[in-house]
Amino acid sequence: MDGAPLDKAVAKMTPMMAQYHSIKAKAGAALLFYRMGDFYELFFDDAVKASSALDITLTRRGKKEGEDIPMCGVPFHAAEGYLARLIKKGFSVAICEQTEDPSEAKKRKGAKSVVARDIVRVVTPGTITEDSLLDARRHNHLAALAETPGGAALASVDLSTGDVAVEAVSKNQLPDVIAALSPAELLYQEDHPPFSEPISSLGDLPQTPLHKSHFQAKSAKERIAHIYETATLDGFAAFTPVEISALGALMGYLELTQIEAMPRLKPPVRQAPGGRMAIDAATRSSLELTEASRGGRKGSLLDAIDQTKTAGGGRLLSRWLASPLADVEGINARLDAVAMFVDDQKRREDLQAQIGATPDLARALSRLSLGRGGPRDLAALRDGLQAARKVAAGLNDPRQGLPLPPLLEEAMHALEATGKGGFSDLIGQLTRSLGAELPFLAREGGFIAEGYSAELDEMRSLKNNARRIIAKLEDDYRQQTDIKSLKIKHSKVLGYMIEVTAVHADKMTAPPFKDIFRHRQTLANAVRFTTPELADLDAKIVRAGDQAIALELTIFEKLVEKVMARYEDLGACANGLDVIDVTSALACLAIEQQFVRPQMEEGIRFDVEKARHPVVERAVAKDQGASAFIPNDCCLGNDQSSELLLVTGPNMAGKSTFLRQNALLVVLAQAGSFVPAQKACLGVVDRLFSRVGASDDLAQGRSTFMVEMVETAAILNQATRQSLVILDEVGRGTSTFDGMSIAWAALEHLHDKVQCRGLFATHYHELTKLSDTLPRLRNVSMAVREWKGEVVFLHEVKEGPADRSYGIAVAKLAGIPKPVLARASKVLASLEAENSKGNMVTELPLFQGTYAGEEESGPSAVEDFVETIKPDELTPKEALDLLYQLKELQHSGPDV
Ligand code: ATP
Repeated sequence: MDGAPLDKAVAKMTPMMAQYHSIKAKAGAALLFYRMGDFYELFFDDAVKASSALDITLTRRGKKEGEDIPMCGVPFHAAEGYLARLIKKGFSVAICEQTEDPSEAKKRKGAKSVVARDIVRVVTPGTITEDSLLDARRHNHLAALAETPGGAALASVDLSTGDVAVEAVSKNQLPDVIAALSPAELLYQEDHPPFSEPISSLGDLPQTPLHKSHFQAKSAKERIAHIYETATLDGFAAFTPVEISALGALMGYLELTQIEAMPRLKPPVRQAPGGRMAIDAATRSSLELTEASRGGRKGSLLDAIDQTKTAGGGRLLSRWLASPLADVEGINARLDAVAMFVDDQKRREDLQAQIGATPDLARALSRLSLGRGGPRDLAALRDGLQAARKVAAGLNDPRQGLPLPPLLEEAMHALEATGKGGFSDLIGQLTRSLGAELPFLAREGGFIAEGYSAELDEMRSLKNNARRIIAKLEDDYRQQTDIKSLKIKHSKVLGYMIEVTAVHADKMTAPPFKDIFRHRQTLANAVRFTTPELADLDAKIVRAGDQAIALELTIFEKLVEKVMARYEDLGACANGLDVIDVTSALACLAIEQQFVRPQMEEGIRFDVEKARHPVVERAVAKDQGASAFIPNDCCLGNDQSSELLLVTGPNMAGKSTFLRQNALLVVLAQAGSFVPAQKACLGVVDRLFSRVGASDDLAQGRSTFMVEMVETAAILNQATRQSLVILDEVGRGTSTFDGMSIAWAALEHLHDKVQCRGLFATHYHELTKLSDTLPRLRNVSMAVREWKGEVVFLHEVKEGPADRSYGIAVAKLAGIPKPVLARASKVLASLEAENSKGNMVTELPLFQGTYAGEEESGPSAVEDFVETIKPDELTPKEALDLLYQLKELQHSGPDV
């Protein structure tokens, strides 16, 4: 968005086009919405891009060097909808408004007579604040990445709430940290693109290059200090130079895009590394924490557990889940708050009812701070603060004298601004000042309550008086003219007018009325007139109206100033409400879904009894009833047990579900939630890895196997003793022996070197032999039963390896044609026979019977049966019965 030298050709253009080009040069890659009257117009390439993205007509305007200039436009009043669509498609849009009154421009002569215009704001995916463009339950982060040879840092801001954070990151964690934050836009230094190839977990995250001057630590420091109006940053935290550089670039971009009004920002929070559980991008998407793998929230863990009542609570829960804690104390502080709400049903229900009616304080506050707020945002603050007061009173009613858990006590003080003067004054002022009917925009006026400003009341009474005089005039004119249907009407363009129907027009334009009534307009059925008296009154009303609105705007600004003076306290209050919303919602969930409080400890214990998968359980319950999900235990890292479990069993038996439910349990517990189990003792996990073998990442040009190996390498390199590793079918994307050998070696490495907790599912039965040599590896399998030739999945985890793989039985369930099943059974039998003799299977039984030559291996059951039939001896009834028997035989199919 830096300026570019102006084209010499500009000098030859119309003044308007010259102005357009000079402004477009400032807008850079952003589409320029150039305000003309009631439209935002786009020209040249911008018009071509926007018309195709928005599916609107591309027209022409004038010519440049003999060529038509492409143009398209969107109406000003509907611009937000179009903006939303462009932003969703990854465009940024520079909004160019008129910056002077057109009457000023008219006073000037020559080329300069075009109305002055300039960019007032650049709307980018990471800087939107409009409710209609945002998802109420999601944060909208703008992130800036700074890199130096010594390290990297990621700074982020959510403009819609004013939260600013920065954290140091190592280069190899970068995709994970970015995926955890899930920003809407990432800024980076133009000569340091963060990734040399696309990272699939980041999707099509818009990435905006910035000039390196934005990242220079010295100017960054000054910029931050200027924005926070402090002399030094030391009061916030001891930031490292690279953190300052990232924060500085972030602030610089805000200055570039939020030209008209810089947002109010909360002090930057420095996130200490190590306080959180590290979850890399692949794990995040494999576990579908906040987003399902097919996109969207539905089907994710967040969707299954979110019972928050407010959008702010929803955002906080998503943050907790995306970035669980890794310290016992912090986790227990959250669990204590949840536990209190579990125990105290009455208090929970009362508070939830109150919280449910609370408006989105954080977003109203941010819109006001950006100068984009309106009277309804002030009302949202008033109502939110009143609700907060009630919530605080409800909290401050300790049962049997028990103190509140510290997290809730802190939240309660934030709701009341304890020690900071409380919010009574502000609530009082907002209550007195705001009327009952509130327009969306302050400039529409009429929102300040009667009795709040004597001056405003006086102006309004002038206006009302004038209206009364007009009513009297109308009566007088009717009597004078003896036209009963004469009316004084108001039109936006002409103001107050005397209107008569067409039949009376002649009377009005003939003596004696011709000198009194001046003709203004003839419509199809009516004619309009005015009089000097009416024109005078009209002018007075307009003036009084303008003055009243100007005064209301001044009052509005003062109220916003009052609100801004309490910006930090109000932000803390909004946060306090979110904490209460999330912890009470988690308590509700725990009661409804029978979750228990996990016992958290420092060691490497993982001991859960009767655990369930919160998402699969719901899906199964929907299909088969509430008790259909089979809970399972999982015990790792105890003195008596092992750290690694190898899970075998047929497809569809529930291996993946078992693996993931244990990983989700850890995420839930460390996010501060109770867990779906009967009992859970968990040693805090520092890093969680979850991989499913065999999934392509073709968009990134990686084959199934390559993806799998890159991910496995990351685990082997990064896992620590305190980590939990979940590997679902490693080594599937290559030949059997290759895959098995890699899985084998990876298991040995995790067992011998890393010594972490882990769960592995595999179809390689050969791996079950590893437990003979690896003392801390234990075999478990998914129980199945065979009944009348069918497999029945019991979904129970039992000790010991699976006896065989049942692949062909599952293929039958899936509807594979019978001849294929029969052939597969034969191939399998032959392979197994060779194997049991200790022979390497070097030759497949390719020619020992194909299904084209199936007869060679003997007649089928149907054929045998047909052989026994003697048609001449059958009655018609017996023949029919036989037909039914044959049909049955055909359905029972081959014995597999
Ligand atoms: P594959 O090897 O083919 O990936 P799998 O053994 O990993 O299969 P899952 O995908 O975990 O099997 O489970 C298959 C289905 O079985 C699930 O979608 C669910 O409907 C059901 N299921 C799994 N676990 C349970 C359980 N504990 N209780 C009830 N139903 C379950």
